[in-house]
Amino acid sequence: RQAAYAELRDVEPFTRCGTRIQVMMNAGLRDDITNLNLVGADGIGLFRTEFQFLVSATLPQRERQLRLYRDVLDAAGKRPVIFRTVDIGGDKAVPYLRSEQSESDENPAMGWRALRLALERDGLMKVQARALIEAAAGRSLNVMFPMVSEPWEFDAAKAVFEQQLAYLKKQKKDLPESIQYGAMLEVPALAEVLDLLIPRVSFLSIGTNDLTQFLFAADRANPKLAERYDWLSPAILRFLKRISQAAVGQPVDLGICGEMGGRKLEALALLGLGYRRLSITPVSVGPIKELVRQVDLAEITKAMNDWLASPPADLRAEMKRWVEERG
Ligand code: PEP
Ligand code: MG
Repeated sequence: RQAAYAELRDVEPFTRCGTRIQVMMNAGLRDDITNLNLVGADGIGLFRTEFQFLVSATLPQRERQLRLYRDVLDAAGKRPVIFRTVDIGGDKAVPYLRSEQSESDENPAMGWRALRLALERDGLMKVQARALIEAAAGRSLNVMFPMVSEPWEFDAAKAVFEQQLAYLKKQKKDLPESIQYGAMLEVPALAEVLDLLIPRVSFLSIGTNDLTQFLFAADRANPKLAERYDWLSPAILRFLKRISQAAVGQPVDLGICGEMGGRKLEALALLGLGYRRLSITPVSVGPIKELVRQVDLAEITKAMNDWLASPPADLRAEMKRWVEERG
């Protein structure tokens, strides 16, 4: 496997028609840092900071958070890293918050998790904000908030960071060169208020794992449902197309960071829907870069428009046929 990584590491993901696609990777543990160079990703499009919390028996203190974030930024060098603030709660229960979580959560995925928890427990968020800001001293910092459901939640989360920034400035600490704030789009309701959200954010990243579970009302962790709803279904693809269209010509950097983008047909579909930035699991980076090099964007865009205008009975089978015809 390592050999296969190395072979594709230096492949530049330009489409056949000459468009550079950003192929970034998802990460969360210190060990992932080595993957970044191994697979030759354009950066880390999703750094799941909760992993450090999930593997700790007690709440990770600021110093420990700071060390991890600094190491990640050092390893990435000039390549961008998007740090997602903690997405704990739900299926990612942590022992030191458990009693509080289980009291009221019968539906943990839709419960008191991620930003909902972090805004209430803002001590947690303040510590993380301090750690991230200090780790990024002299560099650019990208912060992304998970499970944003309404624009005010984004504002509130950003305010926590701005408050810490002001405090550190007063302390005459070295600050980041710039901070860009973005939101995960994984709660369908947020897609209905993009006109309100887009002016607030620098970037948006669609989390197709949660988005799919909420669109289909199907628990992503239930093995009985794992094969039931296809990412290549007209419902999902039309939804994603509406979002990409809403972002056209807007000053927002739009990407995908769910597992969907790491699969070949799905990645092809996303390119056809207008997406140009994918953040995916490290093993998929090489294969997806290779795929990108075979794609003609005008051709797949037209095919996707036709399929979505009048969907074939089995869109996956149709796409497979389409790809095979083109060798
Ligand atoms: C997602 O929901 O698609 C996502 C990328 O985040 P996570 O899988 O960590 O919930
Ligand atoms: Mg998610």
